[in-house]
Amino acid sequence: MRRQGIGGWLVAVALLAGCGASGTEMAAGGTGAETRAPAAGPAATATGAAAATAALEAGQPDTPVGRTRVVLLGTGTPGAEPDRSGPATAIVVDDTPYLIDFGPGVVRRATAAFVNGVDGLRVQNLRLAFLTHLHSDHTAGYPDLILTPWVLGRREPLHVYGPPGLAAMSENILEAYREDIRVRVGGAEMLDPRGVRVVPHEIDEEPGLVYQDDLVSVEAFAVPHGTWEHAFGYKFVTVDRTVVVSGDTGPFDGLVEIARDADVLLHEAYTSAAFYRRNLGTRRYHGTFHTSATKVGEIAARANVGMVILYHQLHLAGDSPEQMVAEVRTQFDGPVFYGRDLEVY
Ligand SMILES: [Zn+2]
Ligand SMILES: [Zn+2]
Repeated sequence: MRRQGIGGWLVAVALLAGCGASGTEMAAGGTGAETRAPAAGPAATATGAAAATAALEAGQPDTPVGRTRVVLLGTGTPGAEPDRSGPATAIVVDDTPYLIDFGPGVVRRATAAFVNGVDGLRVQNLRLAFLTHLHSDHTAGYPDLILTPWVLGRREPLHVYGPPGLAAMSENILEAYREDIRVRVGGAEMLDPRGVRVVPHEIDEEPGLVYQDDLVSVEAFAVPHGTWEHAFGYKFVTVDRTVVVSGDTGPFDGLVEIARDADVLLHEAYTSAAFYRRNLGTRRYHGTFHTSATKVGEIAARANVGMVILYHQLHLAGDSPEQMVAEVRTQFDGPVFYGRDLEVY
């Protein structure tokens, strides 16, 4: 079994603990129908979707024949786009999944990937997640992640690593669902209460190695995300690949060293050309909270990464996926992919 993460900041939230007003969003779940043909199997990159994206790629990525796969569960933003679920990614090593973020729709997207052949994303396996920051688009699926796998048979607690505030959010969600939990445990369902426990691990001021087991080590690193005090990206060094996930971040040169020679850089982006067509207020926001595709390309080139996958793509003024990818390519010669939900890399 997985070893528990390190650090003295483990804060166990007991079942039903906590009180006070929640104010926390319930799982939105409104992702709409999956309209895009998904990846065919665990060793496939998107097949149907590839037809739409092939023109955007600098070449197909190598079919992931190794032990580590990057599964895009949700590439969206706060926008309620039916074919782009809320931000969520799974790194699956053999059959063990590691989630990054849990935007709305996360459990259904994970199950869609499972149906497509990614065995590790069986719903009961969703037991470990890493949160980049507390923005609602990244966390609106949290009640779903806590409750749905439990209702469907998960018996172990959910461990979540993330910024300060995670423990309070976890506690308040459990409190909000107190009656549901009471009925499911004490009523005819007789569910095992261990499966709805949440163990939040708040990452303190000194991010670094936050988790390690036999398959992976996970480093958190601080990123500048506008006025957020705590926002993280994550670097996964697995048995056979290094994957760096930017999270939501403004332009961050520090990523060059962090992502040095990584196999995969999964990075958020907006298109520069569209950015300059927006008003000053919008530019001020996006310029500090997010990163242009041109800058992503520059970082990728300096870091010498193996491939760039764009996610959390912000289209600010009618710009196309092709334009966004083209901007990365002005700086970076390697493979660039415009990520779509349920693709596997
Ligand atoms: Zn976001
Ligand atoms: Zn954000």
